Amino acid sequence: MTDSELNTTVYYDDDADRSHIDDKTVAVIGYGSQGHAHSQNLAESGVDVVVGLREDSSSRAAAEADGLRVETPAEAAAEADIVSILVPDTVQPAVFENIRGGIEAGDTVQFAHGFNIHYNQIRPPEDVDVTMVAPKSPGHLVRRNYESGQGTPGLVAVYQNVTGDAREEALAYAHGIGCTRAGVIETTFREETETDLFGEQAVLCGGMTALVKEGYETLVDAGYSPEMAYFECLNEMKLIVDLMYEGGLSNMWDSVSDTAEYGGLTRGDDVIDDHARERMEEILEAVQDGTFAREWIAENQAGRPSYTQLKHAEETHHIEQVGEPLRDLFAWADEESDDAETAEAAADD
Ligand code: NAD
Ligand code: MG
Repeated sequence: MTDSELNTTVYYDDDADRSHIDDKTVAVIGYGSQGHAHSQNLAESGVDVVVGLREDSSSRAAAEADGLRVETPAEAAAEADIVSILVPDTVQPAVFENIRGGIEAGDTVQFAHGFNIHYNQIRPPEDVDVTMVAPKSPGHLVRRNYESGQGTPGLVAVYQNVTGDAREEALAYAHGIGCTRAGVIETTFREETETDLFGEQAVLCGGMTALVKEGYETLVDAGYSPEMAYFECLNEMKLIVDLMYEGGLSNMWDSVSDTAEYGGLTRGDDVIDDHARERMEEILEAVQDGTFAREWIAENQAGRPSYTQLKHAEETHHIEQVGEPLRDLFAWADEESDDAETAEAAADD
């Protein structure tokens, strides 16, 4: 279905035909953030689900307590018609080699992120369908929205379509986990992977934390109190982002004072200037030509030396020490916080 106001195809419940999945067995490999949500939502939608986990996986108890059948990844994949790969991206290539033998002609291998297919870290057999159904939310929200009768927006993509009904089956899966209630956008493995990596590096995770730290340090170095710097540069970020999320940039500008609006409109481009734009284009190029992917794969093969060092530096940054006691002042907000559930859902072996 093409929504006339959008530049892309968006699918809703009516576009999904559940007969494409109702008689099939879905193996969900992994029971982390996405895995627990997909398994439980599909099972409650009436789909036959088997969870694939290692014998010694600490997630086994959780999946069984949730009423799901658990086998080893290889057994689950062998039984299934659709194999949904929901272990962390860095371990997917090894896990895939372990289950490859159970994937038969006409089966479907499904992903929630395109990295391993797009960068050729997994080369599925040529006689299977390869699809993606990627909710645009962490798993605990995919689960919670399903339970409350709402949906979670998602993406759908087809990489390999040997049966001819790969898209229909992926949409039926998206229906089973509740995504078509909210809308599922058509994309490609390439577009999903490259925009996802660029966004998290340049804007969201990387760009945002760098902006926060530079702002904080500018104030602290100029002699202002770290607590004031923390509130201005980190805490208030959420208020501004919430306003943009709810109603776009104009909604945010309309909600802040005229002084904030004038100051922001005249100064923002001085911070994120042409130089920053050039760096963004370089980051995008490294995503597109595979430089970033090769670097990250090599980093993992080497035991993550840089990752470990950078993570430690971030964890011990001054702003983290200042922030901890300050966040306790906002303990009332914990009720709304998803942190506990996120940590639980992502609990690993
Ligand atoms: P996760 O880290 O929460 O998954 C952990 C699960 O993988 C656990 O069940 C664990 O037992 C299993 N596992 C961990 N290491 C393993 C190993 N070495 N061998 C076998 N199993 C192992 O993963 P996630 O965040 O749910 O991500 C799964 C996929 O979903 C990824 O492709 C990711 O990019 C994608 N995705 C994630 C999110 C998100 O918000 N978390 C959103 C959209 C898409
Ligand atoms: Mg099979």
